[in-house]
Amino acid sequence: MNRKDYIRNYQRKWMQQRRQAWIDSQGGCCAKCGSTENLEVDHIDPKLKTMNPRDLWSRTGTIREKELENCQVLCNNCHKIKSGLERSLSVGPIVHGTNKGYNRKCRCSACKTAHSKSTSHYKKHPVGYIDRSFG
Ligand SMILES: [Zn+2]
Ligand SMILES: [Zn+2]
Repeated sequence: MNRKDYIRNYQRKWMQQRRQAWIDSQGGCCAKCGSTENLEVDHIDPKLKTMNPRDLWSRTGTIREKELENCQVLCNNCHKIKSGLERSLSVGPIVHGTNKGYNRKCRCSACKTAHSKSTSHYKKHPVGYIDRSFG
């Protein structure tokens, strides 16, 4: 093992220990379901997130502590559910009768009609075509 690898390994170990110590301080289990498997760091309010949890552990104490005030321990499963929920909230409700609605997997008749209209438009006109009829 060369010196670079040695240092990298050493840092990784030391960051894992920090991470584990923090998880232990939070009760050592998922805040939602209590699982102790596949635990991850979750930002409770994603808007306050200033860095990737992965980068947290190499930061100095005060920066890390401030960021961790907004964090909780979640298992991989609960984390996925929470991020999925946040994503659907941030994009807002589906507007039916639009191609966007269709792209968001809505298959109601209004969205299907909008989608077929938009695809037939692209079929008729090759990419780069400028529709002069719109002025
Ligand atoms: Zn969980
Ligand atoms: Zn729809």
